[in-house]
Amino acid sequence: MSGTTADSLVWLGTPSFPEAARTAVADGRLRANLRGATRTIRARRSTLAAELSDWEELRTSAAAVKRNALRHLDTHLIRLEAAVTAAGGTVHWAADAAEANRIVTGLVAATGEREVVKVKSMATQEIGLNEALATAGIRAYETDLAELIVQLGDDRPSHILVPAIHKNRSEIRDLFRDSMAAWGRPAPEGLSDDPAALAEAARRHLREKFLRVKVAVSGANFAAADTGTVAVVESEGNGRMCLTLPDTLITVMGIEKVLPSFADLEVFLQLLPRSSTGERMNPYTSLWTGTTDGDGPQDFHLVLLDNGRTATLRDTVGRQALACIRCSACLNVCPVYERTGGHSYGSVYPGPIGAVLTPQLAGIEHAPSLPFASTLCGACYDACPVKIDIPEVLVHLRARAVDSKRGPVPTAEALVMKAAAATLATPHTLTAAQWVGALGGRLLSRQGVLRSLPGPLAHWSRTRDTPAPARGTFRAWWRRTHRQEGR
Ligand code: SF4
Repeated sequence: MSGTTADSLVWLGTPSFPEAARTAVADGRLRANLRGATRTIRARRSTLAAELSDWEELRTSAAAVKRNALRHLDTHLIRLEAAVTAAGGTVHWAADAAEANRIVTGLVAATGEREVVKVKSMATQEIGLNEALATAGIRAYETDLAELIVQLGDDRPSHILVPAIHKNRSEIRDLFRDSMAAWGRPAPEGLSDDPAALAEAARRHLREKFLRVKVAVSGANFAAADTGTVAVVESEGNGRMCLTLPDTLITVMGIEKVLPSFADLEVFLQLLPRSSTGERMNPYTSLWTGTTDGDGPQDFHLVLLDNGRTATLRDTVGRQALACIRCSACLNVCPVYERTGGHSYGSVYPGPIGAVLTPQLAGIEHAPSLPFASTLCGACYDACPVKIDIPEVLVHLRARAVDSKRGPVPTAEALVMKAAAATLATPHTLTAAQWVGALGGRLLSRQGVLRSLPGPLAHWSRTRDTPAPARGTFRAWWRRTHRQEGR
């Protein structure tokens, strides 16, 4: 069974971001898949956002609602628990991944069933629920098409919204042909890579599970504290099947997903589909409040998951990452994500939001390179429907990552920074350093370019041409040219 937050959230043993990214950018097919998919979604999102004259006001409202929700999280959660309980549901509190897995496994075991159908859920991926269920002899079937592809391939998700974005359709056809039979109904003979044929194969494969399996596990996009209503937003209808057909429904929800009131959904249900899939309206929005006699699951459990969230809340800069509604807009505009893909982030949360969320949930020591996986261009901030200032959090976490490595013996980086500070401290030392740099640059350069820098600086020049430093300093040039002009 999964253990600590870091064990489940971070794919421990996977290479650090720089190493994984180096491999990923060398994979031409991966880059082509990512380029095509992110550009399409990006274009749709910006067209649909531009349609709304009050788009910026919606973003501001969403940010304010989330700020309020997080500031009074304790109060809203207790209200949510009371409302869900009054409506016939049962609320469970899980401090970490291990506790959440223990609760869900126990609830499934109590039904006597050995299978569950799952709605796409980042929270259950975060805690490693499928693995925990498998250890207890319970088989979990992913029913979202992209999650099904990831499960059949024994793979990992690489995008929040499109977890199999790294695969193209011929790869998916091969996977269906090779692996579907091990999980139930096999792929039809002669399956082509036509998207409609692939969707039909998945539909038939999943349909028998929807009709047979008695327990469902879902995540939640939102939960309203005043009514106890839980919302799941999805595009394929698989979620609606899981949320209505089984006898028992177990929902695992991060505590930050609570909204103060049902009316707040109005803002988020406008922002989320436009920001995520680039649609005006979400195809399947399922809302339920506790249980209803003779209609839908008769047994409903809501597992409220902390798993590092209250620790994140303590950080006054970093806490804004908890406002994330998992739309993935920041991934689709990120130049780093587009080239490295999601697996390089070594976590269930890829892209810019992963770079700020993972180090906070798992602990900076488990993901020290992630805050540096950004150019700080700010595209993520502009795209975020809840106005999370991701660049601000990245810079803040970089400082924490550096501080966490400080010890009695200074690191090479610390020594370089000390030397830089001393150099920049007076005009004389700066001028002297510039002359030395210019002289060294002239000696090492060929045709105006430094092809290889010495020592640790070689990391920089390995993948870039570095222009040779100018022959003279700016100050010398200024003095010379302005004296000549008589100014
Ligand atoms: S950080 Fe903002 S843009 Fe990125 S997934 Fe979360 S809500 Fe969407």
